[in-house]
Amino acid sequence: MGLLYLGTPLVWEEAKKYADHVRNHGIAQFLHIWDRLKDRQGDELLWGDEVEYMVISFDDKEKNAKLSLRQTEILAKLAAIVDDIGADCPDNVSVPKFHPEYGRFMLESTPGSPYTGSIPDLLSVESNMRYRRTLARRHLNPNEIPVTFTSFPRLGVPGQFTEPYFNPFDAVSSHSLFLPEEITNPHARFPTLTANIRRRRGSKVAINLPIYIDEKTPRPFIDPTIPWDRDIYQEDSEAKLGAALPDHIYLDAMGFGMGCSCLQLTFQACNVGDARRMYDGLIPIGPILLALTAASPIWRGYLADVDCRWNVIAGSVDDRTEEERGLKPLKENKFVIPKSRYDSVDLYISDDWINRPEYNDNPLPYDEAIYDRLRNHGLDDLLSKHISHLFIRDPLVIFSETIDQDDSSTYFFVTQNIQSTNWQTLRFKPPPPNSPIGWRVEFRSMEVQMTDFENAAFAVFVVLLSRAILAFHLNFYIPISKVDENMGRAQLRDASVSNKFYFRKDIYTNTSATSSTTSSSGASSPVDGMPKKKEKKMRNCFPPRPQPENGFTHRVPVEEEYEEMTMNEIINGKGVDFPGLLPLINAYLDTLDIEPRDMAKIQRYLDLVRRRSDGRLVTPATWIRNFVTSHPDYKKDSVVSQIINYDLLMAVDEIERGTVFNSQDVVQVNIPAESGDMGILSNHVPSIEALRPGVVEIIESS
Ligand code: ADP
Ligand code: MG
Ligand code: MG
Ligand code: MG
Ligand code: MG
Ligand code: MG
Repeated sequence: MGLLYLGTPLVWEEAKKYADHVRNHGIAQFLHIWDRLKDRQGDELLWGDEVEYMVISFDDKEKNAKLSLRQTEILAKLAAIVDDIGADCPDNVSVPKFHPEYGRFMLESTPGSPYTGSIPDLLSVESNMRYRRTLARRHLNPNEIPVTFTSFPRLGVPGQFTEPYFNPFDAVSSHSLFLPEEITNPHARFPTLTANIRRRRGSKVAINLPIYIDEKTPRPFIDPTIPWDRDIYQEDSEAKLGAALPDHIYLDAMGFGMGCSCLQLTFQACNVGDARRMYDGLIPIGPILLALTAASPIWRGYLADVDCRWNVIAGSVDDRTEEERGLKPLKENKFVIPKSRYDSVDLYISDDWINRPEYNDNPLPYDEAIYDRLRNHGLDDLLSKHISHLFIRDPLVIFSETIDQDDSSTYFFVTQNIQSTNWQTLRFKPPPPNSPIGWRVEFRSMEVQMTDFENAAFAVFVVLLSRAILAFHLNFYIPISKVDENMGRAQLRDASVSNKFYFRKDIYTNTSATSSTTSSSGASSPVDGMPKKKEKKMRNCFPPRPQPENGFTHRVPVEEEYEEMTMNEIINGKGVDFPGLLPLINAYLDTLDIEPRDMAKIQRYLDLVRRRSDGRLVTPATWIRNFVTSHPDYKKDSVVSQIINYDLLMAVDEIERGTVFNSQDVVQVNIPAESGDMGILSNHVPSIEALRPGVVEIIESS
C-alpha cells in the first residue's frame, strides 16, 4: 500500500469536492517529474521483491487457526529490532524492511536495499526472503507464525476467525455481514478507503465466486452462513435482494480482497523507453504467471471453483457507480468504465515500432482535458493516454492537512491518490523527485507461494525473463483483449494444466525487420548481436532494437500472430518455431559468466517452474484442494471446517519449517522421501498422497 500519512481523512461527500483539484495538481506534479527525468539514462539494474504474510495464531486446545490482529505491535517491535540487528544479518542480506498492509493480520517485507544485477545477488534472493521470515517469526508470540498464504481459508466465517474475537456488527467502515471493523489496519487511510469505496459506489462491493460443487454440496447452494435477515446497516438487505447469488460464495467487503497476500517484483530500467518496453513485454506474462502460481482455492470456509485471488481483489475495491458500470445512463458521472480500479492493464505504452496500434483493442476511457494537457506539454499519444486513463478515477482518501500541495512534490500523484489506488497487473513507476531512483516497472500478478524456495524461484524466473525480453528484443505482443481473456482463464480451477492461453507465435518478429521476414526463420538465434564475451552481471542497458527499413509494413494480420498454447508449450516451447520462455532464459544465461555451482542453483529454481508448467508438480491451489478433499473431516460438501483449516495451516508451517539450509545452501525437507513415515507431519496431514504432489516433492528431489 502507499506511504502512510497521518492526518484527518475526509468522508466521501467532502473528499469528492477536491477530486479535480487533486487531479490538476497530480498532473502538474507528473509533468514536473517528466521534465526533469524524461531524459534520465543509464540506470543500472536494481530490483526487489515484496512478500506479504499473514500472522496465524494457533489455538491447539480448540484446534483453531486464527488471524492474529497484532500487526501494530508486531511492526513496532520489528522496527525497533531492525534498527539494531546489522551485526546479526547474514553477509549477503541487507537489513530487511517491514511494512504495514491492509489487513491487521498482515505484514509485508522487502529487502533492505534492492538487489543489483550481480549473480551473487540473484542467488541471495531465497536467503534474503528466509531471513526476513525468520526475523518475523522470531518476534511473534510462541503460538503465532507468519505464513505466505494467499487467502485465509476461513476469513469471514461465523464464529471466531480472528484473535481476539470481534463481532462483525461493528463494521462501521465496510458494513460487512462477515468482517469486523478490527480486521482492517487502524491507520486512517484504510478505514477511510473502505468506507469511501462503499459510499462512492452507492452500495457494498459484491463478489460472487462459483462454489466447487462436490458430491454432497446442496443444490442449489443457498449459503446458510449468510445472516440474510440482519438489520444493522442499510446495506444489510443487499444480500437477499440479489447481491448474493445461489451456487456462489458471496463476499461483501474490501478486506476479502485486500486481505490477500501476493508476491510482487519491481525492476529499475535503463531509461524511460526501456521501462515502457519492459512494461509491455511483461503484460502478456501477467496471466501466465498468475495461473502458474495459483494459490487461493478457499474462500469464507468453502472450496471455490476458482484458484486465484485476482477477481476477488478487483471486486473488493470496485468503487464504480451504477452509471460507471453501465447499469444506468450517465448523468452524474463522466465515463462508463469497463473495469475496477484494481484490474489488468488496459494499454500497451511502448513507443517501439513493433507495438502495433491494433494491439490496444480494449475500450479505454480517458480524461480528454488531461490528455490534451499532456500532449500540449510534448508527451506522446500512448503515455498521455496511460496517464489520462489512470486519472479517470477519483482520489478516494484526502487528508484535510494535505490539500494544498507544492507541485514539485509527488504527494498527490505518486503517493497519495491516483497511482497508488490504481492497482493493475503491471505498474509503471516514475522516479520520485530528488532521489537516485530511476524509472521502474512493477510486476504484480503473482500469488504468494507457501515456501521461500518457491517465491525465490518465481522472482528469479521473472528477473531473468525481463533480461531476455530486453537483450533479445523479444516481441510478446498480442491484442490486449486476449491478455484479458487469459486473465479470466488463469483463475479457473486447474487452469495451468487444463486451459490454453493466447500467446504470440513468432516472438522474434521484427528483430530482423530489414529482411522483412515475419517468420521465425528470420531470427535463427536470439543471441545474434549479443556480445561474444560473457558478462559478469545482468545488465540493464542494451543496444536499441534494429529499426525497420523504409516502407516496412507488418505483413501478417494481427489475428495470425497468436494462437492458443498450453502452459507447457509457453514455458518449455513448441516444436522448432516457438522456443518457450525457459529456453529463452537459458539462452540469456548463456551470455553470462556463471560458475557451474551457481548455475546449478539457478537451474533448480527454473526446474520448479518447468515442472509446474508441465504438470509434474501441482500448483499450491491444487495442493490445498487435495489436502482438503482428502482430510478425514471433509464431508464432500465443499465446507472447509475449523479442524481442516487448522491442520492445513499446521501442515503449511511444518513444510516451510522443515526446509532447512545445509552447508551447501541446499534446501531439504526433514521427512524421509520414500519411507512413508510422516515424521513431524503425522498429526496434521491426512495422507501422504495429500502431501506428496505439492511443494514437498520439489524440495525432496532437489
Ligand atoms: P510498493 O509497495 O510501492 O510497490 P515497496 O517499497 O513495498 O513498493 O517495494 C519496492 C521494491 O522495489 C522493493 O523490493 C525494493 O527493494 C525495490 N526497489 C527499491 N529501489 C529500487 C530501485 N531503484 N529500482 C528497483 N527496485 C527498487
Ligand atoms: Mg503489499
Ligand atoms: Mg507499498
Ligand atoms: Mg510494498
Ligand atoms: Mg496485498
Ligand atoms: Mg508493490
